[in-house]
Formats: sequence, structure tokens, C-alpha cells
Amino acid sequence: MALDKEQVLEQLREIVDPWQGKDLVSGERVEKVSVCDGYVSLRVVPSEAEASATRRDALQQRIVKAVKSLGDEVQQVNVEFTEPSGGGEAESSDAGGASTSAQAGRAQNAAAGHGSGAQQGGGQQQQQGGAPQSAQQNAKKDNPLPNVKHTIAVGAGKGGVGKSTVSVNMAVGLARKGYRVGLLDADIYGPSVPTLLGLADHQPRGQKDTLFPFEVHGIKSMTIGKLVDPEKPLIWRGPMAHGAFRQLATQTDWGELDYLIIDLPPGTGDVPLTMSQMIPLTGAVIVCTPQKVAQDDAVRAAGMFKQLDVSVLGVVENMSYFIGDDGKEYDIFGRGGAVEMAERLVLPVLGTIPINMALRANTDNGNPTANFEGGDKLAEELDSMAGNLAERVEGRADESGRPSLSIS
Ligand code: ADP
Repeated sequence: MALDKEQVLEQLREIVDPWQGKDLVSGERVEKVSVCDGYVSLRVVPSEAEASATRRDALQQRIVKAVKSLGDEVQQVNVEFTEPSGGGEAESSDAGGASTSAQAGRAQNAAAGHGSGAQQGGGQQQQQGGAPQSAQQNAKKDNPLPNVKHTIAVGAGKGGVGKSTVSVNMAVGLARKGYRVGLLDADIYGPSVPTLLGLADHQPRGQKDTLFPFEVHGIKSMTIGKLVDPEKPLIWRGPMAHGAFRQLATQTDWGELDYLIIDLPPGTGDVPLTMSQMIPLTGAVIVCTPQKVAQDDAVRAAGMFKQLDVSVLGVVENMSYFIGDDGKEYDIFGRGGAVEMAERLVLPVLGTIPINMALRANTDNGNPTANFEGGDKLAEELDSMAGNLAERVEGRADESGRPSLSIS
């Protein structure tokens, strides 16, 4: 049976606070629990007695031990301590490779797993048996990106289906409609945004703890691919991945944005979990090619977003069909497969992007703008994909500016 939140909460019910005389759950000390692919992340409100770091560390160790006793399925346990109400910025520590600054997070966090170390992160908080606070209040209190109106994660489940290509063209398409757009390359294991946006001659710039985004093709962007040696493989242990994502997301000077598009790594796991804990997301987009194998992975991605309480805004079918020199459309991969999958999951289709040689060349040459300037079917499809997303987000947004959609 897959590890779930209930099992984790059950373990936390075994940990009794001697001062309060209650366990962590009934004492309303657990603010949020997320479980995804064996990665467990939870936020705990420290008691007055745990103002001392030593006591917090002791509690963290008890929690990690209790959750890990659930078995080998538990890959990693992240424990974050929230700031007690009325407190200022928490001090924070970070280990596992990535440097850090106190400004990027509001909570003191600790992490332990197969790797070791401590890390930090602010984050979206949703109640999991915790103190009654509205999602909106929490979002305001903890949102590390208060100047970003809509945050959209792009995931795929499977690598190579065109997730980064769709993310980049979604971002450029929205910018061409007049929105202020940022693109965060969260594919920290294999960043492709430097190539896709043609950043080869651009040098990263920063000041103290702030990174200045690259500004090309009408969008702002940040990628780990420009901050590390491109020749070296990026092998991150869980806590390092958490730290790398946090720094890219929260230390970049995005300014005011209408949309921040987040290009996730393929598959499920630690980065989406970190993201969903840290950032109040508007929703997610799933990219899928028509083949059955890609659909299966996309269904898993949809399941992951559901587990993380992230609304799925829709599906993009990439490499949907091919237009030959004869002008005819050929369904190489079985056009409509991803569309059918979207229908099964009761999700809207935001776009069907053809296999296109110019798109491949423009992508590899770092010139996405050219995709929109051909006056052809490709330009039309990409433009309509961006328009559909904006309509979906803004048409359904409630007064908090976030849509209230969920997948069934
Ligand atoms: P992912 O992010 O899912 O790993 P990428 O976006 O990096 O995939 O795309 C992988 C390769 O496929 C790239 O070379 C890209 O140019 C190409 N590609 C993606 N979508 C299309 C398409 N619709 N038509 C032609 N080539 C495409």
C-alpha cells in the first residue's frame, strides 16, 4: 500500500508533548503534511518550550524516527518549524550543499532522510488538523512571492515529451499578450532553459543574496543551468534539491509578475513537493504526447498534483500531429490520445501542438519568438494555448486571485 498522509498522522499521534499533555495532532501542532513518492514533508508549530533550538532538534529527531518507522517506503522526511504567531523572521540553517540566506524563508526547518542536513523554506500552508486559519490568511502570511499573481507549474511525468518546450512557449505566448511573465527552470537535474532561451552569451548577475533574472524574448527567467558548470552532472540529494529550488524561486528578483511559469523536472518526487509546500500555486499544466506510455505517466503526474493539493488547470497534447509538405496532417503518434486522457480525468485541453521542424530548430537555437512569427498553424496553436491558459486562470479566479478547480 502506498504511503499516505493518514499513516504519517497516525505516527504523529504517538508523539506526546509532556508540557501540553497532548499529542502533536490533537494539540494542533501539525500544520501541513504532504506525502509524495515516499517523500514526506510536514510543518510543525513549536511550543513555547521549543523556543530552544536543542528542544526543536530533539522533537525533529523524534518525528523523523517515528515517520521512518513506517518502513523503507519512506525516502525522506522534511520537518519545518513555523514561526509562532507574532514572531519575526526565523533564523535558518541549511546544509547539504546549497548556500542560503535568512531572507529567503520564514520558517526554521530541518530535514533528514537518506541524506542528512537541515534546510529552510517558507511556504503555502493548508490545514491538516492544525490551528484554524484560512488558506487565504496562510497564503498571505507565508507567500515568499507576494508580487506574483499566478504561479503555474508545468509537469509531465515523462521526460522528452516537450515539457520545457511547452513551458517556454507558454511563457513567451503570455508575454506576447501583454502579461508580465517569469519562467523558473525548476528542472534542476537537467536544466534546458539556457538552450531554449538562447542564454549562452548571458552571464548571471546578482547582488548579495539576490539573483537578477535573465530578460530575453519578453520574459524574465532563472535557471540553475547558468549558475553551475554545464559540463558537470547535477546530482542532488533531497535536501540539496529543496535548497536549490528555494533559492532559485525566492532569491530571484522577479519584480511584479502576472504569471510565473515553473518548468518541473520529469517524474514525481522531491521538487514538486518542495514547490507545493513553499509557494501558493494557482495550478498545474500537464504536458503529454498522444502515446499510451506518455498518457500513463501523465495520469501519474495528475495523481501527484492531487496528492499535493495542486489544482490541475489542463493538459497540453504535444507532438499531436505532423503537417507534411503536402499540407496534409499526419497522426504519427496517434493524435488525440492525450485529449482522451484529459477527458477521462475531466480536465480541459489547453492546446494541441503539432510536431514541427521549425519548432524543433527554434527551440534548439534558443529563439522561441520565431515560433510565433511564422503566421502558420504552429503560431496559431501556440498563441491559442497561452490564451486558453490565461482564460482558464483568470476566468475561474476567485476574489483571492486563485482559481478553485480540482481534478476528480
Ligand atoms: P522535456 O522537457 O519534456 O524533456 P523538451 O521540451 O526538452 O522535452 O523537448 C525535447 C526535444 O523535443 C527538444 O529537442 C525539442 O526541440 C523537441 N520538441 C518538443 N516538442 C516538439 C514539437 N512539437 N515538434 C518538434 N520538436 C519538438
